Amino acid sequence: MYWSKALNSSLINGKSYQGSDSFTVNNPANEQLIETLSSVDMAGCQQALDAAITCFEALKSTTAKQRSDVLLKWHSLILEHKQALAELVTLEQGKVLKESLAEVDYAAGFVKWFADEALRSYGEVIPANSPTQQLTVIKQGVGVVFGVTPWNFPLAMISRKVAPAYAAGCSFILKPSEYTPLSALALCQLALQAGMETGAFQTLVTEDAAQVGAFFCEHKQVRKITFTGSTRVGQILLSQSAQSIKRASLELGGNAPFMVFESADIKKAVQGLLVAKFRNAGQTCVAANRVLVQNTCLDEFLAELKLQTARLKVADGFTEGADLGPLINTEAKLKAQSLVEDAVAQGTKIAYQGDEKAGQFMAPIILTEVNQSMEISRSEIFAPVVAIQTFENEAQALTIANSVDEGLAAYFYSQDMAQVQRVANSLEYGMVGINEALISNPVAPFGGMKASGLGREGARQGLEEYQEVKYLCQSY
Ligand code: ADP
Repeated sequence: MYWSKALNSSLINGKSYQGSDSFTVNNPANEQLIETLSSVDMAGCQQALDAAITCFEALKSTTAKQRSDVLLKWHSLILEHKQALAELVTLEQGKVLKESLAEVDYAAGFVKWFADEALRSYGEVIPANSPTQQLTVIKQGVGVVFGVTPWNFPLAMISRKVAPAYAAGCSFILKPSEYTPLSALALCQLALQAGMETGAFQTLVTEDAAQVGAFFCEHKQVRKITFTGSTRVGQILLSQSAQSIKRASLELGGNAPFMVFESADIKKAVQGLLVAKFRNAGQTCVAANRVLVQNTCLDEFLAELKLQTARLKVADGFTEGADLGPLINTEAKLKAQSLVEDAVAQGTKIAYQGDEKAGQFMAPIILTEVNQSMEISRSEIFAPVVAIQTFENEAQALTIANSVDEGLAAYFYSQDMAQVQRVANSLEYGMVGINEALISNPVAPFGGMKASGLGREGARQGLEEYQEVKYLCQSY
């Protein structure tokens, strides 16, 4: 067995915790049962909170170097178990194995980054207005953190929260997605094996996210929430946390524009779109949701896109050469199909459609003549559907791009240097890929503007999210 304990119950203070109810995890590729897990109950939540509070106090007497060393060990254990972790991700989440392997590296990358950042978390000395005063700023861990994560990156969405929290000296209680609890439990076991204190990282699994979420968000001894998921759930957690004025980091939904201007290198733009659209079968919050192409280059772009899309293989993530795995559940497929039907009913054309797939698999579809008022342009598609709109000029493209509530990722392709500057400055998005589609990286700040959330993950800013700034004014 790869894991020190079975992956079928919560890990509270280092021990498996049995609740009274249970829930199941199924393989999205064949809908077969993988595991039955015990759901955490309210007594378990209280135990986890008590352990986290005690541990936070204990972490105050650890050094940054000690915590960094634990993170480095966790990092090497993740890489040592790379294949097993990746297989677990493909099994319960469905993404193709090559992407799961890449996710393990990506997840480990955050652990390494924050192991290093822990050592560089400097304070400040401020020039005082008086010759007998010393003004300093120190940083301290914010306290007990409650995190809720989604299913689309079952490892990376966790490591990029837990690693900075631990680097800052916080204790962390995780509620992973009910679709992907096994990856979360495996990652948690490896952290404990690396020497992380048992109360520093606890994982609570349940199907009843609402009850567990409310318990921690409303509890005043939890000082911070961190969430990745839908805007709807982010709003619930933020309002539940309002009473106790918690710090909040929220990575919410996106609606990324992917703009192709006439000066673009079209082949490169198509290659970029394949990544930005089809990675994880379209189920990423930074997925290209609205493809905006200048009308003068539509024909060339579409011809190349159809050619490349037709080469993609839709199959079980464990199949050799598979490019797109299944969608997470049947509702996800039905939602995407209904967005396509609605767009077609309003005059959109189907420029390409792969063969119909059984179960939760969905073949790529390319739509043209989409417009901004259609539902498909307003909601997150989260499936391999390319929805193309055309534009005449830069101003029109920017108006369309910025016309939504979300502001997570945006992409554009242009070789006109002045245009690159203008468009980059005007986009109301937290992250902008310029002639580049793969922008997420542990060293860079990931996060959104507007309804896409609060705060940043990764980078120097990702550590600051878990720190309080304390100003000391000393007279002598
Ligand atoms: P997605 O659409 O990506 O599944 P969700 O926002 O529904 O995104 O889910 C993301 C995470 O939020 C999951 O771990 C889920 O269990 C959790 N979640 C869903 N509803 C609630 C809630 N009311 N309170 C707390 N967590 C919730």
